[in-house]
Amino acid sequence: MNDKQQFDIAIIGGGLAGLTLAIQAADAGYRTILFEKEAYPFHKVCGEYISMESWDFLVRCGVPLADWSLPLINELQVSDTEGKIYDFKLPLGGFGVSRYQLDNALYETAIKKGVTVLTSCKVTDVVYNDDFFTILTPATIFTARITAGCFGKRSNLDLKWNRNFTKTKPNKINNFIGVKYHIQYPHPAGTISLHNFKDGYCGISRIEKDTCCLCYLTTAENLRKSGNSIAVMEKEVLSQNKQLKKIIEESKHLYEQPLTISQISFEQKSQVENHILMLGDAAGMITPLCGNGMSMAMHGGKIAFDNIRLFLTGQINRPQMEKQYKQQWQYQFGLRTRIGRVVQYFFGGSWSTSVFLKTMHAFPLFSGKIIEQTHGKPF
Ligand SMILES: Cc1cc2nc3c(=O)[nH]c(=O)nc-3n(C[C@H](O)[C@H](O)[C@H](O)COP(=O)(O)OP(=O)(O)OC[C@H]3O[C@@H](n4cnc5c(N)ncnc54)[C@H](O)[C@@H]3O)c2cc1C
Repeated sequence: MNDKQQFDIAIIGGGLAGLTLAIQAADAGYRTILFEKEAYPFHKVCGEYISMESWDFLVRCGVPLADWSLPLINELQVSDTEGKIYDFKLPLGGFGVSRYQLDNALYETAIKKGVTVLTSCKVTDVVYNDDFFTILTPATIFTARITAGCFGKRSNLDLKWNRNFTKTKPNKINNFIGVKYHIQYPHPAGTISLHNFKDGYCGISRIEKDTCCLCYLTTAENLRKSGNSIAVMEKEVLSQNKQLKKIIEESKHLYEQPLTISQISFEQKSQVENHILMLGDAAGMITPLCGNGMSMAMHGGKIAFDNIRLFLTGQINRPQMEKQYKQQWQYQFGLRTRIGRVVQYFFGGSWSTSVFLKTMHAFPLFSGKIIEQTHGKPF
């Protein structure tokens, strides 16, 4: 193996967790390699609303957010399955930006900072032996002292390693699909709307260039009942909500086909798997109605890197690094992900959604607390 194949840190997956970890590692002078199976820039199924807690961190990572004229979002509008609207305040708020633009900016920054980024390169396995990792790709193998699994919601590696959540039978919290469009629609810049429909919910908010991201989550069963046709499901199920009907009928789609993903699971996951530190959705996923998965992915990467640095400088050993990372991850995100699952439980049924929203609306202090619990603080 030559020098070009040996690294301090190997990162599998170039979403927000992976790219921001790579930038932190390069800034600290570590030889870092990142593998991404796609080629930048590319679109992703995501609501594209980022909680404000990440703004400063992204700027420190080199993303010129202030130059992008992004919509700042402080109002939350939620409708029940028929379309009755309830308004809430978002204490910390957020901003809208497409993953196409954000991930690409981070990728370019990572390259400038000296990260070796292999795109269109899918990792097929990782083997841990004698305090080193061997990372296998179809063309070459690499070694690293640290490996971070940042490969998102569900990957070939989850199946290969037989991770626990892949073995659970499909149920109410582990078999969802996600659908996303970029659209033109006169949606107010400062508001994110979450419209419920039977067994799902759909978010709409503004991103850069006066466009909107429309993204929804629903059960695989809902699609199956619509003859596996997204168009039929949108017409017959989503459009029962009059707010969604209006958006579906009046918006202009900016790309022909929607982006889709399936087999989304909110089951608990492990944060360390065979000595690999798991980050972002690979470590645990918060339900998208909390609008906070991206911040969790980046914050988790920061926590991981603080521990990686202590390990690589000899201040702690590997078991200590793994234990501290797991504990700190649970401390920051354990409660948040649990509350996200509980809140998700109330959405999608016409009765439960309506009762939940009426209660939340009638008790603003209570609803403020719940919203606050699903968000973190700037990091
Ligand atoms: C419907 C829906 C809406 C959402 N809306 C929001 C929202 O509005 N706000 C919010 O904050 N969060 C939202 N989220 C959550 C958010 O998208 C995720 O939490 C976030 O993208 C996680 O980042 P990540 O880096 O962990 O994973 P990802 O961004 O998914 O990146 C993982 C990367 O790994 C790559 N990869 C996978 N396997 C391999 C392999 N073997 N080799 C190499 N590369 C590999 C993938 O191609 C991918 O680029 C939403 C999620 C869903 C499902």
